[in-house]
Amino acid sequence: MALQNKLATTDRLSKWNIPCDQTCSLCGNADETSQHLFFECVYAADIWAQVCQKSHTPSTIGDFARQKRVAITKAHGRSRSARIYIKCITETLYAVWKQRNNKIFTGSCVPVQQVVKDVLFNVACSCSDQDRMYLLR
Ligand SMILES: [Zn+2]
Repeated sequence: MALQNKLATTDRLSKWNIPCDQTCSLCGNADETSQHLFFECVYAADIWAQVCQKSHTPSTIGDFARQKRVAITKAHGRSRSARIYIKCITETLYAVWKQRNNKIFTGSCVPVQQVVKDVLFNVACSCSDQDRMYLLR
């Protein structure tokens, strides 16, 4: 849903005439769009950089259109790297969305290092033993 721009980001809420502050809750530096929240925001970009580095996944940080194309291509792939890439992107998108909601509704979010650990833990838990060895190499 994040890649399809279907989540209720504040730019979409505003288009639906729902009054809200459109500023990104994670960085406060830009309006919240899917592209900004998941790929351009410094908080999300830091998570992406670390998840990609630690999972040996190619990084396309900051380029929403390219990330979307790569994800669609990898979703049809059967290779180990494709499986891990899809798990990493899914877990990272969910983690960023969860932290965005935490920041809005509780006023705080988890530090980037903890989010990265949680993402990689969730990916490792959902992998086969062989994929997990590849991920943790
Ligand atoms: Zn931001």
